[in-house]
Amino acid sequence: MKFGTKVIHAGIEPDPTTGAIMTPIYQTSTYVQRSPGDHKGFEYSRTQNPTRDTLQDNLAALENGKHGLCFASGMAAIDAVIKTLKSGDEIIASNDLYGGSGRLFNKIFTNFGLSFKYTSMEDTSLVEELISENTKLIWIETPSNPMMNIIDIKEIANIAKKNNILLGVDNTYATPYLQTPLDLGADIVMHSVTKFLGGHSDVIMGALVVNDAKLAENLAFIQNSSGAVSGPMDSFLVLRGIKTLHLRMEKHCENCRVVAEYLKNHPKVETVYWPGFESHPNHHVAKGQMKDFGGMVSFLVKSGSKEEAIRICKRLKIFSLAESLGGVESLVNHPAIMTHASVSFEDRQKIGIVDSLIRLSVGIEDIDDILADLTQALG
Ligand code: PLP
Repeated sequence: MKFGTKVIHAGIEPDPTTGAIMTPIYQTSTYVQRSPGDHKGFEYSRTQNPTRDTLQDNLAALENGKHGLCFASGMAAIDAVIKTLKSGDEIIASNDLYGGSGRLFNKIFTNFGLSFKYTSMEDTSLVEELISENTKLIWIETPSNPMMNIIDIKEIANIAKKNNILLGVDNTYATPYLQTPLDLGADIVMHSVTKFLGGHSDVIMGALVVNDAKLAENLAFIQNSSGAVSGPMDSFLVLRGIKTLHLRMEKHCENCRVVAEYLKNHPKVETVYWPGFESHPNHHVAKGQMKDFGGMVSFLVKSGSKEEAIRICKRLKIFSLAESLGGVESLVNHPAIMTHASVSFEDRQKIGIVDSLIRLSVGIEDIDDILADLTQALG
């Protein structure tokens, strides 16, 4: 099956009881058993739920993986991955992760004896230098939020394999429409489903997809034991939203390309971070591992002024000023004050999240209206 067919059909069968073509919302906590232990494969909805199961199978198929697991949020999905490790283990992560990922690692998991080393991974040799006998996981985000750095997944996967380390890839920005990390050698793909996969800004959800049966079993055990599962209504909404993922992504990419070019030529804009530019340091890697360059773009206001950046954020009208990304509507975000406020000032400066940085999630509205809005807001 090709991608546009998979989003609509993979893992999705008509409802066995009624033939309903759309997977019903099995809004139930429990399932009646004929006699103790004699049930139809469903005992309790933290463990199994038909709506969630269908979505999990669909997501697994989209990522070309075997096993999908859905969680109450993207953070809950990352939390489950880290819980496969134990005290004393080390994790190497890329140094410009989503702020919430760094917060989970540094403020929670370090209390449980895990340690995290961060490095820029655009030059993959830096990773090898950090590996020790305790390193159990490499965690990367590509493209990264919000600096749009690109990491060579295949090269990192080779390093991970050589050293018997698992590689996890946060694929939120790219989606499986643009990039399938398992095909490039990753062991775990993670999504904030909240973003492009859900696509309509109406759900908080996370997902993991893996190939290895033992890893899947371990993650399912954690999913059930910790209990941060996605609910049936949310699972239904994502099943509904995901049917247009390929069409939405095409339009996000098309609009974002126009916006990136527009910003590049605007006198009030200093630098535009978008991997589609040949001048992007890892453009060739993005071109090799992604189908297109996505719907996200970040830029620096030329004056370098925080006030000017805030003014632009407030003046935009088609772009709503809000956290999150990946919905059909355009959003603008000031990372230093909003999504990445939990990253220390010093660390933000190191990775480029300065006060004049603005991040755009380019929606699928008419491009003329998007450009007109940017024109009036930039002044
Ligand atoms: N990873 C990335 C790249 C994100 O952008 C986000 C949220 O913004 C997350 C993970 C966390 O996902 P959630 O907000 O669904 O918990």
